[in-house]
Amino acid sequence: MKRAYNFNAGPAALPEWVLQEAKEHWLNFNDTGMSLMELSHRSADYEAVHNEAKELLTSLLSIPDNYEILFLQGGASLQFTMIPMNLLPKNQTAYYALTGIWSEKALKEASKLGNTAISISSKNENYSYIPNSEQIEVPKDAAYLHITSNNTIYGTQWSSYPTNVSVPLIADMSSDILSTPIDVSKFGLIYAGAQKNLGPSGVTVVIIRKDLIKEDTALPTMLSFHTHAKSNSLFNTPPTLAIYLLSLVLKWVKKQGGVEGIAALNNEKAKHLYDVIDQSNGFYRGHAEETSRSKMNVTFTLQSENLTKAFLQEAKEAGFVGLNGHRSVGGCRASIYNAVPLEHVMELTKFMKEFQRKNQ
Ligand code: PMP
Repeated sequence: MKRAYNFNAGPAALPEWVLQEAKEHWLNFNDTGMSLMELSHRSADYEAVHNEAKELLTSLLSIPDNYEILFLQGGASLQFTMIPMNLLPKNQTAYYALTGIWSEKALKEASKLGNTAISISSKNENYSYIPNSEQIEVPKDAAYLHITSNNTIYGTQWSSYPTNVSVPLIADMSSDILSTPIDVSKFGLIYAGAQKNLGPSGVTVVIIRKDLIKEDTALPTMLSFHTHAKSNSLFNTPPTLAIYLLSLVLKWVKKQGGVEGIAALNNEKAKHLYDVIDQSNGFYRGHAEETSRSKMNVTFTLQSENLTKAFLQEAKEAGFVGLNGHRSVGGCRASIYNAVPLEHVMELTKFMKEFQRKNQ
């Protein structure tokens, strides 16, 4: 079977090794005589998987001891709510850097729960750039500053994070976690839905500094970080299959040379695509400003709406999946997360060059 050229934005391509490995153990996990999905989440066999996923993530991202990893449900979208619920006291203000629709959504939810303010925004330029992180300042008594590290829809990505900020920095890393090394100690909280770089949908990873986890008995139990932290994310039934697949993805990342190895490959994949855009004499036009370009989501349009449509149609016929831009911005988007093979990116660059040759 030939694997599809999958450029979906999420759920997205998974490493073939992960799928094979899961298949191998599908019917009989660890000689238990049953599949992983049929194990009790209180069994030693499952707990080993759960804890191994935490250990692998800790080692891959060098997560310091004073951080807790949580495996939650409800997607990154529930974190838009849980974060202000847990970290925004009534007498403080949470600041949001607006760099796309997902940051807007995060702000909207926080605004329902407390005082919020916009620290900086690139909305006036249709979110085509990331503001200079050095220019971001928030008052010392703010609750936190929230950023979206990679803007999946617009194809922009922060290349450096704010340093002039003394309050906890919170990052939605749904679409670029584990794509490049980060210094976790600079963040108060990092969260990511798994379905782009970490595994299948169904589990959301939260990495939170322990001092930010406070017991608040007034909060609904399931929406409190404290509940999940104190029970090793086993307060209730976790998404066991998603966490198992996450553990396999993390093993695969380790085999690729860890996050450094993956980052080198991601740089190469992104460079090939941006080179085609830059060398096309305007035939392809990137949405993002050059210095803000995402290495995960490459967004572009062609010279006219009709040509863009023809490109997408022909690409589809040639076996490329998921190249349509998000419904809110249109155009084209190639999502090239960790698991998208270099060879598939090279096939796309060939297709783009050939399409240009035939149509200009
Ligand atoms: N944040 C970002 C940056 C995203 O790309 C997405 C999903 N595409 C979300 C949040 C929402 O994630 P979920 O569907 O897991 O709630």
